[in-house]
Amino acid sequence: MNLITCPNCHMRVLPKSDGTCPSCQAIIVQKKHGTHNIERIPANEIPKQRSDSQLPLNKTRPSYWPGLRFLIAGVVIELIGRAIVALIVASARGQAFGNYLATMNSAMKIQGAFDVVMVVLFFIGIILLARIFFARKKASKS
Ligand SMILES: [Zn+2]
Repeated sequence: MNLITCPNCHMRVLPKSDGTCPSCQAIIVQKKHGTHNIERIPANEIPKQRSDSQLPLNKTRPSYWPGLRFLIAGVVIELIGRAIVALIVASARGQAFGNYLATMNSAMKIQGAFDVVMVVLFFIGIILLARIFFARKKASKS
């Protein structure tokens, strides 16, 4: 450190390490704020931007979800149908023979209707999955 003239007591002094004048204790040296401390753009911003620009590429590959949704709906419909039929069959127990047959007959009809709905949903789902499969193949080639 160099000798400086204290602005408070006007003595030629060697400032102490904490920047105060040894004669009058006034602070005469401001600790310099170097230009090194200027915040730089964090390095992790750059890869973040890169991954953002890659997102549209992934979006061009269609997901299997629309097709799978129909398959799941088919399974759910079938399970609901079986639950309803099971309830009807359970209610048929203990009935007179004629009523029992009529109830079982209607249960089978309901079961058949649910089966048709399930088959239609599966059919749509499989067609969609096949179309998505070929669309993905096309997207990955280009
Ligand atoms: Zn001084």
